[in-house]
Amino acid sequence: MRTAYKKVSSHGSINIPAAMRRELAIEAKDPMVVEEHNGAVLIRPYTPRCSFCRTMEDVQDFMGRGICSACAGKIAEKSGGHGWKI
Ligand SMILES: [Zn+2]
Repeated sequence: MRTAYKKVSSHGSINIPAAMRRELAIEAKDPMVVEEHNGAVLIRPYTPRCSFCRTMEDVQDFMGRGICSACAGKIAEKSGGHGWKI
């Protein structure tokens, strides 16, 4: 878990640090889910993107990052078929 300190704008906006957007493959205008839970606010992508090819199709979570079936297949192929399967 990483922490960033940001101020809320007069419009109620807050920006997500570029490094976090890059890591989570969040792009401008992507829909986000904002949840309140016990005094904390959690913001996460409504539809996660694949961290490798940026698609939003058939993406699953892998260790906190999105990966699509096609990219997961390519990684498994490169590892000689002994890799993981999603
Ligand atoms: Zn992909």
